[in-house]
This record gives sequence, C-alpha cells and structure tokens, in this order.
Amino acid sequence: MKKINIAIDGFSSCGKSTIAKGLAKELGYTYIDSGAMYRAVSLFALQNGWMNNAEINEAALKQHISGIKISFRTNEFGQQETYLNGQNVEHLIRTLEVANGASRVSTLGFVRKELVRQQQEMGKEKGVVMDGRDIGTVVFPDAEFKIFLTASPEVRAQRRFDEMKAKGENPSYEDVLANVKERDHRDSNRTESPLRKADDALELDNSHLTIDEQLQWALNKFNKITQQNE
Ligand code: C5P
Repeated sequence: MKKINIAIDGFSSCGKSTIAKGLAKELGYTYIDSGAMYRAVSLFALQNGWMNNAEINEAALKQHISGIKISFRTNEFGQQETYLNGQNVEHLIRTLEVANGASRVSTLGFVRKELVRQQQEMGKEKGVVMDGRDIGTVVFPDAEFKIFLTASPEVRAQRRFDEMKAKGENPSYEDVLANVKERDHRDSNRTESPLRKADDALELDNSHLTIDEQLQWALNKFNKITQQNE
C-alpha cells in the first residue's frame, strides 16, 4: 500500500507522542518526535553557556546551528532515543529546564528553519508519523492525514506530573501546571509558526478518552483516508 505522512500537532503534554508511536507501530511507519529536536537545541545552548534564565546568545547559537545534527535510534527495548551530534541525550532533554529552554529557542526563526529542513528530509520517502506544533501547517503542509489533539491544561498537567513521578522525580503539581500554561502561551503567541490547527486537520479532544480509544479513532480515519486515495 502507498505510504503517506501523518502530522500530529497540539499543545504540550497532550499525549501526541503516545498516539503517534501507537500509529507508527500499528502501521509499520517511522515515528519522529520533533519536540525532541527543539529540546536537543535547547540542551546544546545550555551546555555551551549560550542560554540562561534571562537571555539567549542568539549570535553564537546562529553561528553553530548548522553544526547540530539530531538523529534517532531505537534502543534494545524498542524505544526511540534522541542523539545530539552522536551522543545519546534522551534523558538529558526530558527535564523541565530543557523543556522551558526548548519553547524559548523554538521562537527563533533560524532554529526553526534548520530543524524544519532536517524534518522535511526525514519525511521525504513518506511513511512518517511526526508530532509537534507546526507539522501540519509548516513541515508537511501536504500531509494526507493531520490530527490536532487537545485536552484541558489541568488534565495535561496531571498526566505530565504522573509521568515525572513514575520516573522517580518529585515535582509540585502547581509548578507543572504553571509550566504547561506558560508553554501554551508561548507556543500560541510566537511570531514564528505559532501553534494552530491546520484547516484540513481533524481535531480530537482526548481529555476523557483512553489510549486505545484514541488509537482506534486514528486507525479508522487512516483507513478511510488511504482507501479514498487509492
Ligand atoms: O513536544 P515537546 O514538549 O517535547 O516540545 C518541546 C518544545 O519545543 C515545545 O514547548 C515547543 O515550544 C517546541 N516545539 C515547536 N515545534 C515543534 C515541536 C516542538 O516549537 N514542531
């Protein structure tokens, strides 16, 4: 069967990666976490001392941006891990500090330009499920199947809080909720590719849906779309 690209966009901690990974597994497609790429750039800027709480050294980051190579490899447990210039950074990029930095570096046009270029390259052969904020609008505007996921900030903060607890971290729910809201605001209000639903995306509010229900919904839509395209 002819492969298509699937774009999944939505706010942070909406469960995009869960549905994207589920679809990729079910369909034998490649899953790509575009947020991990912005996180990797954030880590790169932090590690080099080009970003602190107050400012970003844009000139230095811009000078080195094309030297940042991000790739994904599957580990022995079948989970995908992010590599930054050949180094496994999967755990390092999942902290709140890096997440916050990611939403700041992602407002910079030259960062977006380079990452979008790398993402489009990854999707050239089709058969990709990519999740992010601008996948249906900018990265793959011609994607045959686009999903826009939503859920309330409180539901999303609770999910993120549970995930962090499960990893042995000890965050406060209020901090996580504040972080979710701050990132929503920044993602929706930035000038460069703000988060918005593509006109042809199908919206799914998953606040009260199980993972299985979401996956079933997505597979039904996928089947309809691919049958129409044949
Ligand atoms: O999805 P995740 O929370 O890992 O993304 C980290 C940050 O990267 C987001 O807060 C968002 O600002 C940014 N991002 C983006 N465009 C994407 C994916 C992520 O601006 N396609």
